[in-house]
Formats: sequence, C-alpha cells, structure tokens
Amino acid sequence: MYYCLVCKNNIEQKVKEYSIEHFGYYLCRDHQTYLREKREQSATPQSITLYLELLKRGIQAELEKFDGHKTIDIAVTRTKINIEVDGKHHSYSPKQAIADLRRTYYSFLKGYYTIRIPNTLIETNLNEAADLVAEMLEEGRDRKVGRLSQKAEEMTVSKTNEALPKT
Ligand SMILES: [Zn+2]
Repeated sequence: MYYCLVCKNNIEQKVKEYSIEHFGYYLCRDHQTYLREKREQSATPQSITLYLELLKRGIQAELEKFDGHKTIDIAVTRTKINIEVDGKHHSYSPKQAIADLRRTYYSFLKGYYTIRIPNTLIETNLNEAADLVAEMLEEGRDRKVGRLSQKAEEMTVSKTNEALPKT
C-alpha cells in the first residue's frame, strides 16, 4: 500500500511509479496536478521540495498560502510560522530587501515568525535543513500569541497600503 504524501489517500502501483519518477515523492494524481499547477504559477521547485519534506516529517504545512497581503511560500498556521524560500528574484535589490523586511515585520505583528531559507540550502543540504525546520516547528507549537496580533489588526486598518508595498 502506498499513500499520497499530501492527502494520505491510497495510490496504485502505477501512480506511485509515475509520481516517484516525475516528482520524487508518492503523490496521487490530483496532487501531481496540484503541484504542477503551483510550479507553473509561482512556486519554485525548492519551495515545493521543502514543503513535501515537511509533510514527510509530519508537519501540517500549506504551500503558497495567501495571508491577505502576499503569498507565503510555506505557512504552518498551527505554529504560526511562515517559511520563505529565497532566491526567486534574480537580483536581490535593497528595495526588495526592505519590502521583505516590512512583510516580516507585518507577519511578526500578526504573531507569525518568518524563517528565511536560501534556495541553495535546499539544493545542497535538504535533509539537514528540513530536519531543523521541522524541529523548530515542533518547538514553536505552544507559543502564545495575542497582544501582537491585536497590533497587527490595527496596522491593517490604518496603514495597510503604505506599510506593505505591492510587488
Ligand atoms: Zn493526494
């Protein structure tokens, strides 16, 4: 018996073989299509790989989650941790860096901690990186958030457009 990594549904031998060959993971047909679409839209191969590795480690991660302002590469709402896999911008300009920092700040106010992981680390040290992130997510499970979330709400109402430039 083989199971899809995302939905845990049973998959047939043929589907399993195809998905291992094309994705490197056990995926049902629906989730093969889902990941293909994500890849065609905006998800990088590295963020998809990390997402699947986190699922493999029992983490309830979401790929490309829209938080109301921007799409988070990987979000783990249960522990309030966002993961951004960096390197999709060809040149990382100061302007981009400031925009990212603002978003990190905004997420932080909402009670979300942002972990940034370079693309290259996923390529070279995938298991080590995924293990560390999974460990961190486990640690973060019981964090209490409240006061900062409230401040984030106020910020949303008053200065959203200024504080969060759209790209
Ligand atoms: Zn599935």
